[in-house]
Amino acid sequence: MLEFFDVCIIGSGFGGAVCGAKLSGAGKTTLILEHGRRWDKNTFQQTQDIKYLKELYEEFEGENIKISTGRCVGGGSLLYSGTSLRAPSSVFEQKDKQGKRLWPFVYNRKALNPYYEKVEKKLNVKQLLWSEAPKRDGIFAKACDKAGYTCDRLRTAIVNCRNCGFCHTGCKFDRKQSLILNYIPEAEKNGARIKEECKALSVKRNGKGYIVVYKDLKSGLLNEVSCKTVIVSAGAVQSPALMLRSKKFLDNISDHVGKNLSANGDMFLAAYLPNEDCEVFKGKAQGCVTYAFWEEGFVLQGMGTLPISATVINRVRFKDAKRPCYWGIEMKRVMKEYGKHLLGIAVIGLDGSDGMVFLDESDNVKLNWSMSKKSKRVFDMAISRTKEIVESLGGELLITEPYQEKGGIITVHPLGTCRMAEDSINGVVDANCQVFDNPNLYIVDGSVIPSPLGVNPSLTIAAVAEKVSDHIVQKFPV
Ligand SMILES: Cc1cc2nc3c(=O)[nH]c(=O)nc-3n(C[C@H](O)[C@H](O)[C@H](O)COP(=O)(O)OP(=O)(O)OC[C@H]3O[C@@H](n4cnc5c(N)ncnc54)[C@H](O)[C@@H]3O)c2cc1C
Repeated sequence: MLEFFDVCIIGSGFGGAVCGAKLSGAGKTTLILEHGRRWDKNTFQQTQDIKYLKELYEEFEGENIKISTGRCVGGGSLLYSGTSLRAPSSVFEQKDKQGKRLWPFVYNRKALNPYYEKVEKKLNVKQLLWSEAPKRDGIFAKACDKAGYTCDRLRTAIVNCRNCGFCHTGCKFDRKQSLILNYIPEAEKNGARIKEECKALSVKRNGKGYIVVYKDLKSGLLNEVSCKTVIVSAGAVQSPALMLRSKKFLDNISDHVGKNLSANGDMFLAAYLPNEDCEVFKGKAQGCVTYAFWEEGFVLQGMGTLPISATVINRVRFKDAKRPCYWGIEMKRVMKEYGKHLLGIAVIGLDGSDGMVFLDESDNVKLNWSMSKKSKRVFDMAISRTKEIVESLGGELLITEPYQEKGGIITVHPLGTCRMAEDSINGVVDANCQVFDNPNLYIVDGSVIPSPLGVNPSLTIAAVAEKVSDHIVQKFPV
């Protein structure tokens, strides 16, 4: 079956949902294809049941790297912590190994500010009051203060939080401002059609326009959409995968596709504070941040955790625990004993973009990460600063296995795999996110962000989407 739309958007996360609302608002007939299902406050569950989590999350595991993303209408916004920060000015001035500026010249903090503002308004982003920050974040701030460092409240897209502690399984109270509460309903009100459980398989050039081939996962049928413009917004793992699968049907796709994968310097650390009742399982996922180490290339944020995240995902080493302690009675015992005094700390930083997304012979997505000196320096420094901070309150930094024992990383902030650049020698898309040599084919999501951001990325991805969708509307083919 062949369908006709002005624009086909692939993926409904921060890139896709913003473009969907803007393009449909400009009167373009818009189709959004989304691999995952629809979820809302009535279907979210407050559980750690793996079966449930596997329906919402898509996990990728490769050599030295694990990535978790959202696979649902609204993408990662259903699962995120709601932390919404503008990238500091110096982020846009980062250079590659040859000393060339990574971001196209039109990008700097001042130029993005009006777009940040638009997104913040739509997502009700506000700085928390200290009375709204979880108890453990107050304790982390106290530790920072004792160690001689500043720490302040985060800006979040959460209104009147119920503090149930289940941000990462979907907000049952509609307090976290996921995209299903704003950009997505706006797109549908404007007439955009969202087809959930539909996975795009390839994008092909078709005269002046494109054909998108997709599989309807409910019926198992293959369908085709003919459109003037395509926007690929499948996230920093699946967008490069789709571009690699489509390469033979498109013109001169850059060799940079899949390369320059940044983990945004993500690392989860945990501390044991015997003299404090941290209530690590309670409250919103994040509440405070210290920029005291920005010159060293990272920020630290107080972080809650569900038991499954501390034990199964980040494999925190609890001192007297029998190993493995990831499941069952031992996990329960350890959580009961340690949970009260446990503090989570998220490191986010400027890593060396040392990873890659590629396809194997059967077209399956593969990943790898090979730790550069730059990344290692940032991660090691973050560990030593965190140690200093928690020890100031008589605490102990615990070992989290993935980085500290195995030298690998886990990230929920993948970026950079279809990076934007001034020219096709250095990147995949131009400053308007149009794929070089392929008019009216755009990529708009975390994959085009050409450097680590050093802070949580959703607000910047959405701000870039706001900016480039103005251009896409203006230049829309007649
Ligand atoms: C647990 C967790 C907590 C987080 N917390 C924060 C936070 O507090 N603040 C912050 O800024 N960021 C946070 N993030 C990161 C944030 O969610 C991502 O950076 C953001 O969602 C990326 O946006 P995107 O548009 O690049 O892609 P996504 O939001 O990942 O959207 C891509 C969408 O495309 C769909 N898709 C993929 N392939 C196809 C295909 N072939 N066909 C059709 N659809 C497809 C996917 O199912 C997905 O829905 C968090 C992420 C996680 C997982």
